[in-house]
Amino acid sequence: MSKIKFQRPKGTNDFLKEDFYFFDIIFNTFKRIVEFYNFSRIETPILEDANLFLKGVGRVTDICDKEMYCLKTKGGDILALRPEGTSPVCRAYLENGLKEWPQPVRLWYFGPFFRYERPQAGRYRQFWQGGVEIINGEDPGLEIEILQIFFNFLKELKIKNTIVEINSIGCSSCQGKYKKVLNRYLKSYEKEICENCKLRRKENILRVLDCKEEKCQSIIKNAAQIIDFLCPECKSHFTAFLEMLDHLNYPYSFNPFLVRGLDYYTRTIFEIFEERKESEGGQEKKMALISGGRYDNLIHTLGGEKTPAVGAAFGLERLLEILKREKLFLPKEEKISVFLVLLGNVAKIKILKLMEELYREKIKFFSGMGKDSLKAQLKLADKLKVDYCLIIGQKEALEGKVLIRKMKEGSQILVKMEKVIEELKKR
Ligand code: AMP
Repeated sequence: MSKIKFQRPKGTNDFLKEDFYFFDIIFNTFKRIVEFYNFSRIETPILEDANLFLKGVGRVTDICDKEMYCLKTKGGDILALRPEGTSPVCRAYLENGLKEWPQPVRLWYFGPFFRYERPQAGRYRQFWQGGVEIINGEDPGLEIEILQIFFNFLKELKIKNTIVEINSIGCSSCQGKYKKVLNRYLKSYEKEICENCKLRRKENILRVLDCKEEKCQSIIKNAAQIIDFLCPECKSHFTAFLEMLDHLNYPYSFNPFLVRGLDYYTRTIFEIFEERKESEGGQEKKMALISGGRYDNLIHTLGGEKTPAVGAAFGLERLLEILKREKLFLPKEEKISVFLVLLGNVAKIKILKLMEELYREKIKFFSGMGKDSLKAQLKLADKLKVDYCLIIGQKEALEGKVLIRKMKEGSQILVKMEKVIEELKKR
């Protein structure tokens, strides 16, 4: 019979020992900063009504159209593994009456998200995001507050070589006018643009601006820019945002063709990328680390009143990879003071009791349980560079005693079981 070998699903990761060292640094840094800025934590279910995303993110976006994991429950509901965090947070804002809290409401979240994307470097089908949302606030200063949080975040993670790209995609009225002009322009290049863009032109034309194909990029370069189609309100919002950025001396680069893959965005959008060359003289590569923007209509689309809001999220795996690659934090070996050596069944019970006591006294130990021979246990104790071994063999177990071996000198003394902790503390 052939053995079945199971593999994790394509585009997913197993996080192991060292990964968690970096995982915790990223999570703890984010949590500390957002809590300092008085954001309160929210955790929404991993499964949501699929319609929430179809309505919120948009039916003809890649995320909903191609990438959503959907399932039918036994009761016949269609649920989706959440592909993003903003729509669920807005659903929760409405459902839990957060309108009654002091406004604007500041929320943060952290958890796994799912998109059926083509896996590639930094792009997974299950990935972790941490995000912030400021709901019910129209002031462009709120965009700055979010950028400030993420600048501090990257600084504290010691991540350099980043660029901030910003743009304004206006409101639905600005977009309506712009899309018509863009459509006319792209129609004249219908034969030249890629197959994907031919579809995008018809279904979600702004996404053409995001195409990575060289031939499309050269066409887009000369297209009209949405910034020239902003209505007076959107224009003054963006101008105020830019003035604040300049005033604070925050670095940014205006990208008139920056768009996002989610339909709910309005006005200010931004992305923070890492820019690096993979090899000496190689091409500069850009990887989005943090993305966000304003979504003034989303809550209304989901059935609430008109509630302007802004948010952003980072991808954990991408940051984790940078911390590892650049060796920005080095894992410290945790010192274990005591190794427990045991031989035989009676000793096993005594060691298990001793473990209880050591835990109570917060003396860090490593147990040799599961290893049979004395030699193998002592070898491991040596490798772990412990100060002491507590040895209980058959004889010691029957006599109710423990052999304390000082590893550096190889000296050992025999003490009564009840005195072990006292002896260890003395040393
Ligand atoms: P988005 O929800 O698309 O605005 O993405 C926010 C951030 O999540 C991005 O800047 C990335 O860092 C990260 N991200 C998005 N999609 C993926 C993915 N498929 N795999 C890993 N990280 C992702």
